Amino acid sequence: MKRIGVLGFLHESNTFLDSPTTYDLFESTCMTRGQELIERWRGTHHELGGFLAGAEESGFSIVPCMATYAVPAGAIRAPDYERLTQELIEAVRQAMPLDGLLVALHGATVSERFPDADGEFLRRLRTLVGKELPVIVTFDLHANVSPNMIGLSTATIIYRSNPHLDQQERGREAAMLLGRILSGEVQPVQALETPPMLVEIACQHTNEQPAQGLYDDVREVLTWPGILSASVAMGFYYADVQEMGAAFVAVANRNGDLAQRAARWMARRAWERREEFVGDLPNAETAVRNAAATARRPVVLMDVGDNTGGGSPADSTILLAEILRQGVRNSLVVLYDPESVEACLRAGIRSDVELAVGAKTDIQHGSPIRIRGRVRTISDGCFLETQARHGGWGASDQGITVVVETAEDHTVVLTSNRMPPLSLEQVLSLGIHPARKALIVAKGVIAPRAAYEPVAGETVLVDTPGVTANNPRLFRYSNRRRPLFPLERDAAYRDV
Ligand SMILES: [Zn+2]
Repeated sequence: MKRIGVLGFLHESNTFLDSPTTYDLFESTCMTRGQELIERWRGTHHELGGFLAGAEESGFSIVPCMATYAVPAGAIRAPDYERLTQELIEAVRQAMPLDGLLVALHGATVSERFPDADGEFLRRLRTLVGKELPVIVTFDLHANVSPNMIGLSTATIIYRSNPHLDQQERGREAAMLLGRILSGEVQPVQALETPPMLVEIACQHTNEQPAQGLYDDVREVLTWPGILSASVAMGFYYADVQEMGAAFVAVANRNGDLAQRAARWMARRAWERREEFVGDLPNAETAVRNAAATARRPVVLMDVGDNTGGGSPADSTILLAEILRQGVRNSLVVLYDPESVEACLRAGIRSDVELAVGAKTDIQHGSPIRIRGRVRTISDGCFLETQARHGGWGASDQGITVVVETAEDHTVVLTSNRMPPLSLEQVLSLGIHPARKALIVAKGVIAPRAAYEPVAGETVLVDTPGVTANNPRLFRYSNRRRPLFPLERDAAYRDV
């Protein structure tokens, strides 16, 4: 029986945040070892769930090593990255001898010392396991793919859906490919192509054009004889690293030229449509005014500048301030605000409170807003998502959470942990009926759509400022590759 190690190390690191991500954040978000890994991830919609399902189906003997992820935030503190990678590598060392490894990485992980933290991790892993061991790696669709990530892995498989609803499927695909390698049926060779372009986050919904076209091309390449896998990474431009931008990866059976040709074909076709990947969004004032006027309710306003899944603070008050300024009633807003949670706990349930909510992390996301209301619910903040949802986390913990209702029917949810709006259970578990609201603010771009579209009358992406603003021209980069369209409009792509 083939012994297959399972490993996971996932973090999306926003380098425009001042505060680094710590070991503690990984530990408090999710860290599993050995049998615990299987119990946490078996049956989930995550790629780790897919690894386990595919490995079982293939009759492998699964050796769970270690899996950890942290909520997206700043770059990982240098000593904490050392500690994490040492523990992960040590878990693999103890699992040896192995016949293969299935590794779930994000691909946009940055440590203070290693901009390509995923590539560095794979380098350390290879030092332990050697060059020959098959190592199949899955990446998030928001990976900034580096030559090291491709050079140090046997094959790479990237999610093809945004919101990410195919994570389990991709994990299973990785396990199946490993099975074909171990039986001697195939021998993967992969190629990476990085045309000088980025895809603005507002244009990354894979069910709609222009992003859908990228994945039509992937599906086309998958029909080419000899191709084992094909992927597009749309990149993560809130990480100022050399490899930031779009990337195209093809995996072929024993044929490097074919892999190269496939990656270039996809890249060239995306490049020809590069103008389509530039977003044009309404600002907060216009978006709230239009939302107040429509009958298609609730209107879900995506707070693009405070995209918690992209590392932002989750406490921007820019949209709430605009809603109050325009006198719109009956909105639902979730804010990370442990201080206000404390104040509500002191006041107690059914108490009338006056609070200054939100905007406590930094000065880039509005200022605290004064509200008056009644403490309606106090919750432990734990919830479980059983459907396929972006992230595939299943169980989540938003910390002690309080619901405050105001006289204008606004429902303000105050959380003690930063929690991206990936699951409607985040509010359903608090007794809130989102479908009855006129306006819902969701702190994300594409990811929350899987959760909110079933109740949304309309979904509007709003061009709010912040550390995850849509417009890449608002960020000051010093490490990214240049040129990169649309930041350099005269960028040229010379493939061979
Ligand atoms: Zn992603």
